[in-house]
Amino acid sequence: MFRKRRGAGPARSAEALRLVGVRKVHGAGGNAVTALDDVTLSLPAGSFTAVMGPSGSGKSTLLRCAAGLDRPDSGIVVVDGEEMTGASEAELTKFRRQRIGFVFQQYNLLPTLTVTQNATLPLKLARRRIDPHRTREVLALVGLADRMGHRPDELSGGQRQRVAIARALLAEPTVIFADEPTGALDTRSARDVLELLREAVHVHGRTVVMVTHDPVAASYADSVLFLADGRLAGSLAAPTVDAVAERLAHLGDPAARTTAAAADATLALGV
Ligand code: ADP
Ligand code: MG
Repeated sequence: MFRKRRGAGPARSAEALRLVGVRKVHGAGGNAVTALDDVTLSLPAGSFTAVMGPSGSGKSTLLRCAAGLDRPDSGIVVVDGEEMTGASEAELTKFRRQRIGFVFQQYNLLPTLTVTQNATLPLKLARRRIDPHRTREVLALVGLADRMGHRPDELSGGQRQRVAIARALLAEPTVIFADEPTGALDTRSARDVLELLREAVHVHGRTVVMVTHDPVAASYADSVLFLADGRLAGSLAAPTVDAVAERLAHLGDPAARTTAAAADATLALGV
């Protein structure tokens, strides 16, 4: 089901992301919380996937484990054919800088740096060459060509998030993870950001995994994965706003659990 894609884009068959039996417990002893419980999934390169589920269902933990920002307690994470779990901290950092982009709800820009400096910071940290023409091109793509020398506090929320997306695009990662990237934005800015993420997939061939609460945002994706209590609770291909809202409303119903079991089996087939 996850191999279906909408729209035209570079045809790629490789798997961008694989999780097998990923489990993550936060805290210890009586305070221990199982945030992810045996999550197995496979996403093809060039796909746009939304991750949805109630607050506390493990969405952020899933993204952080998949992006190598957190280490799972057990299970494996494979990005672009390379297993991240088991790598040393230094290897992981290097791998992350090359293959992974992350867009956070609160932008995570450095206040003292300009738009250009923020957007090129990961390249600088990875000691990669910074091409000024390419930088300008990507900032123009996200509509910030006339803001390159501005600092984050001179920008709107939507503009700040577009800097974060330019930063992710410039590093040319395999996978871009976005955790509620439109959560702090007005409707119009949210739409701009979602269109940029969709373009990153369908025009630039990136793989995007986006956590969202919003059925409208999820409808921009090729498919939706639902999480409940740290476990996969089903999926939806070619999601419409209504279909997503309907599934969210019934997450946790006995009928939804049956569907989820079938979806788990389908997902497992990809592994
Ligand atoms: P979501 O993004 O779906 O809201 P999270 O992945 O943030 O869910 O959290 C999943 C569960 O793990 C929640 O019960 C949350 O309270 C807990 N949790 C997340 N991060 C931590 C942490 N650093 N320390 C302790 N518990 C955490
Ligand atoms: Mg979260």
